Amino acid sequence: MNEITPVRVALCGSPNSGKTSIFNALTGSSQHVGNYPGVTVEKKTGLYHHEGIAFEVRDLPGSYSLSSFSPEEAIAQKELVDDRPDVAVVVVDSTALKRSLVLLAQIMQNCSRIVLCLNMSDEAKASGQRIDLPLLESLLGFPVVETVGHKGLGVPLLREKIASVQHSTVDRRRLTLGERLETAIGRIVAALEKTAIDRAGLEWTATKLLQNDSLFVERVRALGADGEAAIACAQEVRREIEQFTGEDIGFFITRRYYGFVDGLLKEVLISPPHIDTRVLSDRIDAVVVHRLLGIPIFLAVMYGIFWLTFTVGAIPMDWIDQFFGFLSRAISDAWPADTALEARSLIVDGIIAGVGGVLVFLPNIVLLFLGLAVLQDSGYMSRAAFLTDRLMHRFGLHGRSFIPMVTGFGCTIPGIMATRTMENERDRLTTMMVLPLMSCGARLPIWLLLIPAFFPGDFHATMLFAIYFIGIALAFGLSLLLRRTLLRGEEAPFVMELPPYRMPTARSVVNRMAMSSWLYVKKAGTIILAISILMWALTTYPRHEESTPVADAAADRHSQSFRDLEHSIAGRIGRFIEPVIAPMGFDWKIGVAIIGAFTAKEVFVSQLGVIYSLGEQDQNSETLRDMLRRDYSPMIGFSLMLFLLIATPCMATLAITRRESGHWKWAALQFGGLTAIAWLLSTAVYQIGSLFFG
Ligand code: GDP
Ligand code: MG
Repeated sequence: MNEITPVRVALCGSPNSGKTSIFNALTGSSQHVGNYPGVTVEKKTGLYHHEGIAFEVRDLPGSYSLSSFSPEEAIAQKELVDDRPDVAVVVVDSTALKRSLVLLAQIMQNCSRIVLCLNMSDEAKASGQRIDLPLLESLLGFPVVETVGHKGLGVPLLREKIASVQHSTVDRRRLTLGERLETAIGRIVAALEKTAIDRAGLEWTATKLLQNDSLFVERVRALGADGEAAIACAQEVRREIEQFTGEDIGFFITRRYYGFVDGLLKEVLISPPHIDTRVLSDRIDAVVVHRLLGIPIFLAVMYGIFWLTFTVGAIPMDWIDQFFGFLSRAISDAWPADTALEARSLIVDGIIAGVGGVLVFLPNIVLLFLGLAVLQDSGYMSRAAFLTDRLMHRFGLHGRSFIPMVTGFGCTIPGIMATRTMENERDRLTTMMVLPLMSCGARLPIWLLLIPAFFPGDFHATMLFAIYFIGIALAFGLSLLLRRTLLRGEEAPFVMELPPYRMPTARSVVNRMAMSSWLYVKKAGTIILAISILMWALTTYPRHEESTPVADAAADRHSQSFRDLEHSIAGRIGRFIEPVIAPMGFDWKIGVAIIGAFTAKEVFVSQLGVIYSLGEQDQNSETLRDMLRRDYSPMIGFSLMLFLLIATPCMATLAITRRESGHWKWAALQFGGLTAIAWLLSTAVYQIGSLFFG
């Protein structure tokens, strides 16, 4: 093995077993994570070196078993069966061995090079559980390592064991599934061996054929007459077993897996756990998931996070704001008079006003993500999903939609990808369609700009909370509508699982936060920068040649430059759409910024920055917020916030909706439907509001 072909290691395990923690501890900083933050179902790979050998680790989606049924299980199965890792590391939660080890049994049917990682060993030990490790290793025939994932304990040993099995050739597997099932599998394997099928994972294929799993039946059928013979053999064996046991084959096989696990545990458990670590969790839950108090507590927690985002975030925000103000003044002052004024304008009015306008909100973004990361890591988010399950049922959603929707507060795209955990296609489409209503991180700068511009200080956190709340309420209303019309049908019931509470660790929280924040900065430095430059050009050219001289030059200087703006391409586009947006109270300047927001939501802020920077000669005296307050009423401000909350999901969202739903029509409906609703609501608010407030 060398640099070019690293040893491929797959990390498998049930949800919340600590896979990602182990992954992080193994690979350190050299990780490669899809394109989006907060991704749960997407592929995650990382590289590390051990004694000169390169190992490529893949964090598989968490699943309790392998199957073609739920998306995570199917992905895990595909990775193991089709992509054949060199080593499979099975990460289990030591406090729930019985449930976690079924997956191990299934992986033993697939792979020969395995390392079992007994994670959460700290909690298991604290509860009094003792395991005879040497015995377990000899019963299984491969290495077993105890770890504490989030602290990295046991991980060096894990690396060593991975390296050691990578050389070994396992003699015989030690999985025992009972004579009847083993004979049955043996017969199907024999039939499969006559076909041209890949020798690896034969046993798994045989088990799946026995269960009549359509994916594997199709595959084997594609092998021709020998394949058909193997399928027929599997059918016959299945009939025999079902006749003899009087039991559904699926139950029968599952029971055999549990039988193996039970037997194994009976051998190796020196002392079973005597204190239930879940007792404390249950005590907390008695309050937090209380029937009446639960939802108010949840709302209070969310409000707290928004308050933190606003008030604490305002301090460093001011520093960054002042820094960019200082920078543009310094450049303007130092620029030699009458030379390359276009370039000065590009830098000051295009780049600094645009990118700076977005970067200013970095502290707030960091704080919001910090809050969400703590809630997620502590296990509280799963409670919130549980709490809202009943409520969400009334709206044709259910608890499984909750995590995708919360993820949507960060970014709609991973939110939509997280809907893959939903088995029922209608549930999934409904969630996907309403997800853009969860106010994403890219919209936060918009709220942070507009709320203080139009509303008094005491109301800032409340307004922010309100805008998120309106989004959620609309999402619920719309999904009810969808479930009653386009997506009518049964809801898939499901049992929700509550992982125990855990103290979030600094490392994991900082990791999540750093990742989201870095993506924000990267976006500002790439997409937002490019669009700012484009927007600057569109707003600058063509130039107005013969400017009409005005008597009172000083007073009219700013209206003169705004007239130049209107003459530009962007100004003309804005003017063109003005009749459509005028009923909502918007003018062409807002119109141009809204069009920009379609590329990425933050562009709304950078674009207003560019327009006002170009339009205002005397930019030292006023901030963008002051200028907005001068030009628009709070009524327009609110109507604008509503519109930006609901309308035009960004381009990336539409693309991902198209990909995940498999059809353009859903993306089109999402775009058209949401924009139409936004227009109607904003128009109503502005028109009715104007009646009362003039
Ligand atoms: P995954 O869902 O399998 O990827 O699990 P994560 O790696 O996200 O871990 C879930 C939670 O368990 C996180 O809060 C971790 O900090 C925590 N955790 C991970 N490993 C351990 C461990 O060995 N002991 C304890 N007490 N907590 C752990
Ligand atoms: Mg994970």
